Amino acid sequence: MLALLVIGLWSGGPLRGQTDTVAPLTIEDIQQLPDTTLRLAFHFVGLPDGRNFLAEDQDSLLLAYGNNERLRADILIYYTLQELNKRFRSGMLDYEASKDTKIRFAHARQVDKTIERAYFYAHGERLRSVPGVYNVVFQPHPGPRPPSASTGGIGSRTIRIYNTLQGYLDGGTDTWSPGRYLAHEIGHTLSLDHTFKCDNPCAGQGFDPLEECYGECVDHNHGSDKVNCFGGSPRQLVMGYGSQVHFTVCEVERMWRWLLR
Ligand SMILES: [Zn+2]
Repeated sequence: MLALLVIGLWSGGPLRGQTDTVAPLTIEDIQQLPDTTLRLAFHFVGLPDGRNFLAEDQDSLLLAYGNNERLRADILIYYTLQELNKRFRSGMLDYEASKDTKIRFAHARQVDKTIERAYFYAHGERLRSVPGVYNVVFQPHPGPRPPSASTGGIGSRTIRIYNTLQGYLDGGTDTWSPGRYLAHEIGHTLSLDHTFKCDNPCAGQGFDPLEECYGECVDHNHGSDKVNCFGGSPRQLVMGYGSQVHFTVCEVERMWRWLLR
């Protein structure tokens, strides 16, 4: 899909390598592209006591676990993908013509039953990563101050979301947060920095890192460190901390340049 897009995109102009003066992809160019779908495989790692998200055929356990629908992996996958697609379809700021990033998300495996697309693991069992797609891993984090989620950074295909299972076992129903964590981490894999990173290449184009972090900024991408940036600016940017609803035009252009690099 992406290879085809590259051909289509560049067929009318000079090929890369022929000249140094190829104009960078702009938001106007992006709006002319077909929607492009990135695929995700979902992995669920159990707690040390053996409890895990439930497969569709384990409905009898739902009652024993508190009858919380979010404990069913297929329900969580559904809500997470809905949230992720909504962010990327309608979350872009500052462009009159559209709020659409033109990036979409879908299951890695095209089978009828959602649950057959999920992978389940005992605690500590080795991950069976699916090549060529994003591997989204819902797993426990043993640390005293666990992050909400993490990824290996630019180009990584693995995203880990921590400690959601325990929340649902305790009666929680929040499916919005895993979706926005995923959007944020995917932003990192597609080359985006935190909005509160001092030298963010998009700084000054839709946000100010100082405003994103209460008059301070940080020089790395490993969270807000000693400065508490949670809440961020009223722009509610996905790559800040806080509500994580919007992308800027500069960020969308950077994600697409990474995809079509
Ligand atoms: Zn981050």
